[in-house]
Amino acid sequence: MKAFILSVGDELVLGQTVDTNSAWISQQLSAMGCDILAHKTVGDDQSMIAAAISEAAALVDLLLVSGGIGPTEDDLTRQALAGVLNVPLEMNDTWLAKLDEFFKQRARAMPPSNKIQAMIPQGATMLDNPAGTAAGIRAAIQRAAGAPCEIFVVPGVPKEMKAMFELHIRAFVKQQTGGAVILQKKLNTFGMGESWVAEKLGDLMKRDRNPSVGTTVAGGMVSLRVNARFESLDRAEHEMVKTVEACAEKLGDLICSEDEVTLAEVVAVLLREKHLQVATAESCTGGLLAKMLTDIPGSSAYFKTGFVTYSNQAKYERLGVSMEIINLYGAVSETVVDAMSRNTLRLAKADIALAISGIAGPDGGSPAKPVGMVCIAMAYKTEARTVEAVARTFNFPGDREMIRDRSAKMALSMLRYRVLGTKMPF
Ligand code: AMP
Ligand code: MG
Repeated sequence: MKAFILSVGDELVLGQTVDTNSAWISQQLSAMGCDILAHKTVGDDQSMIAAAISEAAALVDLLLVSGGIGPTEDDLTRQALAGVLNVPLEMNDTWLAKLDEFFKQRARAMPPSNKIQAMIPQGATMLDNPAGTAAGIRAAIQRAAGAPCEIFVVPGVPKEMKAMFELHIRAFVKQQTGGAVILQKKLNTFGMGESWVAEKLGDLMKRDRNPSVGTTVAGGMVSLRVNARFESLDRAEHEMVKTVEACAEKLGDLICSEDEVTLAEVVAVLLREKHLQVATAESCTGGLLAKMLTDIPGSSAYFKTGFVTYSNQAKYERLGVSMEIINLYGAVSETVVDAMSRNTLRLAKADIALAISGIAGPDGGSPAKPVGMVCIAMAYKTEARTVEAVARTFNFPGDREMIRDRSAKMALSMLRYRVLGTKMPF
């Protein structure tokens, strides 16, 4: 079943209100196996609304329109729909009585303009609105060939739109799609670029594959989006598992989490499992790594303490990093973060300590140490109770916020691979 989603409102085209209705409706429809052909947004302009309805009706089996059915002069969706259907608007007595009752209960006289909310195109069906005064409208437009395009018009107010979707639209769509579903899963990776990931996935990313595999990037994480489109939930679930396994085979433990699970949440679970406690020493990230680790409830089980040692003085006074090495190698150096991490491990009596020092910009870069250069070290106790440390230098792109975010996430990644006991592939 092909669907088109139309949003109506000047506030939407002016960018004053973000169109959340289309996203929500799309999620509901696609989960029920609908193909969403397009979203369109038009202002409160009758001819624009009419043109959009005509355009959609020629293309799809289902058109959902939200907005423009309020009582004011700028609410023109019903007029536009009547125009496209080439029928007049008619008073719906049932809804008029409901409006009367609504105002009576509030001891208010109904403004004459409200009556328009009880008018629907001749031959259309009135849709009850349990949450507001604007009734919805259901109509159909005959097409030259094939089944007619079914149209549902609902109010723009998200709460009313959702209530009416549940009441009038969900069951209709379910019946039309016959139990078909689209299951979605997101597999998150960190550390390698999108094209590297795509290359590894190879044929899994073929456009006509079902389940389909696509990649998206957000917050430095490259995610695989797997969509399984099948005639039944059972089949979709079965195929989803197979494709997720195929992706895992190609990418191994580069896949760190599923759906909205963060890197920090994954690390938290691993640390709890292994009964390990961490401590942090941060310069350019100013406590961001400690924040990420403590965003999770119950973090006292694995997080001991965090030092924010922004100045050289603080690195010396609080962590005991010698001024000689700071002066010799600079605060942003593998030698200094190595010392920061080893000293933090000792001071905090932790099992693993992470240290970050870098140039987050926008100022402070030099040819030898450009903005984005970040040194991260991890000190840890070995099985033999000796202390070892690894220090790495990274060059992160982007602005200050991005560099700090990637630095903290890279430190979490180093921690994750250490606890997993596998080699970091980057
Ligand atoms: P309307 O039904 O056109 O009178 O819309 C009423 C209110 O609902 C608007 O003022 C917006 O704040 C909100 N609204 C309308 N359309 C949308 C949409 N597509 N997404 C989110 N909010 C909306
Ligand atoms: Mg409006």
